[in-house]
Amino acid sequence: MSCNLHTTYTGQDVKVTDYDNSVQPNWCSGCGNFGIWTAVKRALTELQISPDEVLLCFDIGCNGNMSDKILGYRAHTLHGRVLPFAAAAKLANPKVKVIAFAGDGATYSEGIGHFINTLRNNYPITFIVHDNNTYGLTTGQVSATTPQCAPRTANPDGPTASTLNPLELALTLKPSFVAQGFSGEIPHLVGVLKEAIVAQDKGLSLVNVLQACPTYNKEHTHSWYQERVVDVDQKQGYSPADYNSALALAKEMNENALPIGKIYQAENQPSYLDRLEYRNEGIWKDSTPLQETIPQNVDALCEKFI
Ligand code: SF4
Ligand code: MG
Repeated sequence: MSCNLHTTYTGQDVKVTDYDNSVQPNWCSGCGNFGIWTAVKRALTELQISPDEVLLCFDIGCNGNMSDKILGYRAHTLHGRVLPFAAAAKLANPKVKVIAFAGDGATYSEGIGHFINTLRNNYPITFIVHDNNTYGLTTGQVSATTPQCAPRTANPDGPTASTLNPLELALTLKPSFVAQGFSGEIPHLVGVLKEAIVAQDKGLSLVNVLQACPTYNKEHTHSWYQERVVDVDQKQGYSPADYNSALALAKEMNENALPIGKIYQAENQPSYLDRLEYRNEGIWKDSTPLQETIPQNVDALCEKFI
């Protein structure tokens, strides 16, 4: 875990440059990570969240290489394992905004158990998936979101397993918030991320970001996505509060119709912390789990039982 200890943040008048790091990005030319990186910094800035008020947790992969190209408290975790780390950090100190990042391989392939567990528990964190339909850092293997028959460097005949629909799977797990963005529509993505970061206080907010990987996914270029993404706000009568409509929209998603925007937001879906009923009363009401780990004087309690 790392943070710039030499900067004093006021929590006011936050500027995009407050998130600048001297380490320059080394992503390939045209990589969608540039758009996500920019949108995250702009979203945090527009929400006036300073770098000492947010924990950014990264998985392994090209997404994870953002960890030293942005400021804020940061952790670079194990492959497919970022979610339990991020959830535990949030539970320890719910006052900090926690954002987890991972690729489609880490999330929907080897980390899928953690994905299911995290969404079912509705942990109050934001999760941003860099979905480029391939493993980029390991030079092009099929992932769970690679379309059928799409060749990758290590899999010239495409996937042997069926292709996973991330929005449909996410909705069946009933998190509080599900959205999709596109790395090439930065102003739109900033708006989606802002809503997701605000929504995390009420439960898990997932943003699946469609992202070009020009090096290892030759079909899904920026222009390919630009021709196919459709903002749900343009869909007449669509309401993100309607779970069945959201699920139907997710099921209809295909290579020619890629919805972006807020797909679903639950009105009354309790988060993990809300479900811990004992925390809503007595001595636990105003404490955080972090405070509860501070040594307590238990002499009076011992006298009662000994
Ligand atoms: Fe981006 Fe793909 Fe290059 Fe990784 S391999 S930096 S995802 S373009
Ligand atoms: Mg990927």
